[in-house]
Amino acid sequence: MRRKIVAGNWKMNGSKDLSEKLVGYVRGEAGSLDNGVEVVIIPPALYVGDVLAQARGAVSVGVQNVGQWQSGAYTGEISPEMAKDAGCHYVLVGHSERRQLFGETDELVAEKVSLVIASGLTAIVCVGETLAERDSGEAESVVADQVRKGLVAVEQAEDAGKAWKRIVVAYEPVWAIGTGKTATAEDAQAMHASIRSVLKDMGAPAEEISLLYGGSVKADNAAALFSEPDIDGGLIGGASLVAEDFVSICRYVPAST
Ligand code: PEP
Repeated sequence: MRRKIVAGNWKMNGSKDLSEKLVGYVRGEAGSLDNGVEVVIIPPALYVGDVLAQARGAVSVGVQNVGQWQSGAYTGEISPEMAKDAGCHYVLVGHSERRQLFGETDELVAEKVSLVIASGLTAIVCVGETLAERDSGEAESVVADQVRKGLVAVEQAEDAGKAWKRIVVAYEPVWAIGTGKTATAEDAQAMHASIRSVLKDMGAPAEEISLLYGGSVKADNAAALFSEPDIDGGLIGGASLVAEDFVSICRYVPAST
């Protein structure tokens, strides 16, 4: 059975105060979520300790990015081993903002994924097409290419069965991130089904890999998206900064049957 996950990506937002209040609230509500959803909060790395202190095991924690090295003279970087040491379970890799603003390539994504899974953490690998790529009918091929290239190290891992267990894929159309525009549930489902078939072609246990949708998910569109058979939860940006909205979104994940 696939894990249902709702992860909140705070991006470069938040504070000690938000870490205390929002995470405290989410922890309090997490106990009443009876749909089996795993709630993950991904704050800026500086606040991981504050978030973990409030999460107390009821909420999982991740980081938004890591460097492609485990240690050394790389000023400003953090490594997957450090994220693990701090108590994180998840690492976002290849978010479109990293790709667009920091020049991250699929090859760099693959290097990071390889280190993340070697550390025993789970990589949430983000893929998604731009509006121009969607308009020109290339969305599925662009996303398939990102999946194949970004996960090549998993496909080739010595113990690929174990490595695939540490992968979650987040489909986030670039044009939907932070714009208020969301893919229709049908379009998102079609892309998720396509990603699952690419994973199958790569030899992955595709039916067991959680696929999250991200891109302006809000309390009023989450139910439709999460009811699709290949959408196993969401990666939430803006709405994850408002405690009540984030918890409402978590409640819209249907209980597994
Ligand atoms: C994101 O940053 O991953 C995201 C999906 O943002 P938003 O929900 O604000 O579109």
